[in-house]
Amino acid sequence: MDFIDLKAQQSKIRLEIDKRIKSVLDHGRYIMGPEVYELEEKLREYVDMKYCISCSSGTDALLIPLMAYGIGPGDAVITTPFTYIATAEVISLLGAEPVFIDVYESTYNLNPDGIEDAIQYAESKGLNAKAIIPVDLFGLPARYRLINEIAKKYDLMIIADAAQGFGGEIRGEKAGSFGDVASTSFFPAKPLGCYGDGGAIFTNDEELANRMISIRIHGSGSDKYENIRVGINGRLDTIQAAILLEKLSIFDEELKLRNIIADYYSSNICHNFQTPFIPKNYLSSWAQYSLLSKSESERNEMMSILSNANIPSMIYYKHPLHLQPVLKKLGYHKGDFPISEKISKQIFSIPMYPYLEKEKQNRIIEVLNYR
Ligand SMILES: *Cc1c(COP(=O)(O)O)cnc(C)c1O
Repeated sequence: MDFIDLKAQQSKIRLEIDKRIKSVLDHGRYIMGPEVYELEEKLREYVDMKYCISCSSGTDALLIPLMAYGIGPGDAVITTPFTYIATAEVISLLGAEPVFIDVYESTYNLNPDGIEDAIQYAESKGLNAKAIIPVDLFGLPARYRLINEIAKKYDLMIIADAAQGFGGEIRGEKAGSFGDVASTSFFPAKPLGCYGDGGAIFTNDEELANRMISIRIHGSGSDKYENIRVGINGRLDTIQAAILLEKLSIFDEELKLRNIIADYYSSNICHNFQTPFIPKNYLSSWAQYSLLSKSESERNEMMSILSNANIPSMIYYKHPLHLQPVLKKLGYHKGDFPISEKISKQIFSIPMYPYLEKEKQNRIIEVLNYR
């Protein structure tokens, strides 16, 4: 059994993908070819935002808006310690400091109650809190209504990390439309993945969009060889855009399938585990289906039982970011974010992809419920 099986999806759309790739090989515009602009238009419509800027990865999709806001030394950016390293890495890369706040034990997403303390903590270190990066962990959008209220009060820019959240919704509005700017990833295993690296940025702010378009291509000005700011090589390949156009055409159908599987898991997995909590009016894109066991030893034991039954499982995330060696210099200690630390010891994720057969779902449930 696979943790994520991309082959089943490929066989469904292989002919169309072959045609799309062949068409790129025929026209030969490998960099910023027509498929890139076609994809940006389709994504923009899908998320219902004014601007979509495709880029080279989910990481660059976070880096580019931070650069466009001029985030740098002396600035603090608030985020969650229970996420992938990329969320905080981009902050450090620019010489700014990540300031963490703990998560909800129910959704594993950032708890906005911690924002005011984080602003004060930043001040005590001589830093100016400029922005916040909420993360749509495992596909569930963060609590943007509350985050918006506090961010407005303290003049924080919101950069939504929707790398896992693409396809998720709050009250019918799509992930990617929350915050001042939102970032997503097309890493192959993400809900909408390509066959390499890729990402996209969404915003309604025209001026910000123009700055990000410039940063994406070496800070270019009105022509390609005039450079007006420091930028990066942050483009999405035309071939990846071509692949994404086909994948996007079946994405809504896949989202439904993921939700059917998640519902089936949640109603059949017994009470030994905390199943994912999806608040009213929220829709998850199910980047991961994660269970919380009662202790670290139970988690590890369950994972080895699954492994013996040939069922893969993974831990997202084993080390909360404030305890990662690379971020040690921030000065955080064990015990600073007890919920993130507890979850990282007890959580594990089981296979989740749109084409996971019922028979496999039943086997997974059976093994989980055996004890
Ligand atoms: C995957 C991921 C990223 C980075 O995306 P890449 O495309 O791998 O660079 C950033 N944040 C989160 C939460 C992610 O899951």
